[in-house]
Amino acid sequence: MTADSEPSDGLNVPADVLAIDDQTMRRLGYLMVDRTIEHIQTLGSRPAISETEPTELMNLLGGPPPRTPHDLTEGLALLADVAGENQQHGDHPRYFARVAGPAVFPSILGDWIGAGLQSVASSWGGGSGPTAIELIACRWISDAIGFSADTDAIMQSGGSLANITGIVTGRHVNGDGVIYLSDQTHSSLSRSLPLIGQPVEFIRSLPSNAAFRLDPNELRAAVMADVSAGRRPTMAIATAGSTNTGAVDDIGAIADICDEFGMWLHIDGAYGGPVALTQRGAERLPGITRADSFVLDPHKWLFQVYDMACLFVQRPGALEQTFAMYPEYLADAAGRAVDLHNRSFELTRRARAFKLWLTIRTYGLDTIGLAIERGIALAEFAQSVIESIDPLEIVTPAQLGIVTFADPRVSNAGHVAAAAALTADGYAAVTSTVLAGRTVLRLCIINPATTVDDVRGTIERLAQLLAERAN
Ligand SMILES: *Cc1c(COP(=O)(O)O)cnc(C)c1O
Repeated sequence: MTADSEPSDGLNVPADVLAIDDQTMRRLGYLMVDRTIEHIQTLGSRPAISETEPTELMNLLGGPPPRTPHDLTEGLALLADVAGENQQHGDHPRYFARVAGPAVFPSILGDWIGAGLQSVASSWGGGSGPTAIELIACRWISDAIGFSADTDAIMQSGGSLANITGIVTGRHVNGDGVIYLSDQTHSSLSRSLPLIGQPVEFIRSLPSNAAFRLDPNELRAAVMADVSAGRRPTMAIATAGSTNTGAVDDIGAIADICDEFGMWLHIDGAYGGPVALTQRGAERLPGITRADSFVLDPHKWLFQVYDMACLFVQRPGALEQTFAMYPEYLADAAGRAVDLHNRSFELTRRARAFKLWLTIRTYGLDTIGLAIERGIALAEFAQSVIESIDPLEIVTPAQLGIVTFADPRVSNAGHVAAAAALTADGYAAVTSTVLAGRTVLRLCIINPATTVDDVRGTIERLAQLLAERAN
């Protein structure tokens, strides 16, 4: 430290101890913008997934705790070129594994500005602007889906947290008892239920039917059996677009059973929920407006930067009843300014909604609906390509952007190996899944930038890799 910068306030540490000069901030800020745009423009010609051997990667990025300064430009380059490269690129046009995350530029911008302004959405008093943005973005979606006007909402990091927040709310409001789900319910829910104190003997995981849907007859039978044994059914969990096959449970029939037995209906639309925003949304997801609680993941099919899920609760006040931290809130509940920290486990919360608000405002919900529509059509196109290649067979038809298929000559392990070979090659990323004990290939195609050639090229390569493994 020079004599000039010696602290004059009598403290040992100067006020600019962590300051970065203006010129450096601008230079690196612009560099980050350029790097992001280069990523967007060149992604399609690079591998869909990259991975480095663990020890090598940890060495490249690690070392002993840095005690002294390091060059900021170099650090940023390590993040961009090493950390950010070694991952699945959910925004790649041929990323068909698990669930893609094809983020759009307005979402990136919204996240940047929220970070740059250190925006916080915890309470009205401490963050009325970010709170308003979150309430409004959720309201836009809620209204477009057709939920009642007094539906409450809260954003969470992802479907895992949002689903469990909805379930905790339902259980708090509706009381303890038996919770019903199916063997196709997302694994994060089966993991979380015991962890939130739901006794395992009060969790019914019902076998799905031939179409991998929760069977309402099975549900009714299980509910009746519990009632006659003196147990209290309290909640059913339905799925609107399963991660495995895109199947939509028979929500109308499930909702009828919930009404009859006074059960809370939670719908997991983490994957498929955004389909409600397409023109034929109500027809594709019939009955979803009957949910007591409903989740969708904007970081999947609403083109958002990670991370973000929305939870909607169609019982006004139920979230606050469950999560309000301060009893004084209850005193003046009417006409209140919303404190979002009273709606989930989170207290300090970032302005997660900026990106979604900017995305919806920029494109409009109709255009977003069309972009979702294209994913549905691409999966239907994939099905037609698969059907045209002998001996491939469709295992589950294209449903909400997902199609599964198999080569009857190839073993389960052969399917896993074919998916791994294509992914290792870098052309596309695909994964297998297991349906009723059978390993199948699964394509989840929700990136609107994906072309029919991308789809055809991927299936033809997979068909070849499967043929090489035929018995
Ligand atoms: C992805 C997914 C989840 C989990 O969501 P995260 O955002 O990964 O936490 C839950 N349910 C379904 C149906 C999903 O597809």
